[in-house]
Amino acid sequence: MSDRTIKKRFEKHVISKDNCWLTDLWCNDKGYPKISLNKKRINASRVSFQLYKGEIPEGIFVCHKCDNPSCVNPEHLFLGTHKENMRDMVEKGRSNKGSKNPQSKLTEKEVFQIKALLLETNLTVERISILFEVSRRTIGYIKQNNIWKHVNCVANSSFSNTSTDRNKNNNRNNNRNGNRQKSLEWEQLSLFD
Ligand SMILES: [Zn+2]
Repeated sequence: MSDRTIKKRFEKHVISKDNCWLTDLWCNDKGYPKISLNKKRINASRVSFQLYKGEIPEGIFVCHKCDNPSCVNPEHLFLGTHKENMRDMVEKGRSNKGSKNPQSKLTEKEVFQIKALLLETNLTVERISILFEVSRRTIGYIKQNNIWKHVNCVANSSFSNTSTDRNKNNNRNNNRNGNRQKSLEWEQLSLFD
């Protein structure tokens, strides 16, 4: 499907361009409109951003400046950014735990993105929970570093509330290639969701 075809189809669904662009598209329960392209339901805001602003780098999120999930005005959209070195660190630290837990709704990559968004943007816990379609509680636990502790954005990040926690994280980084202590956080995770 060419960009022109996609644009045509997208614009057909835009029914109002009064500041926020509104569509007649089906919305999920969080209010985000979805457009069907190549038999896949894609967030219309992502399609809008790609059509009018350009490519979305892998793993980056399209967020709303206007706080209106149903809006697809490209001028109201921005990319949730994070630092390359943070991604690099999480990839090096990736383990088989967590996302293989059938109870777990998030992957390490997503948790990394959540931590980056918490650190680098003003998005609220609620907003992030909507973006990732998980409960606010889950994002809250990630923010407090109660779950997914092994996913670290940066060694000196301030995700931990106390310096003791930070030291623990640093130790964990140092032990990355050694026998990392098994923790109970995955079992705990299944209780939360
Ligand atoms: Zn808007």
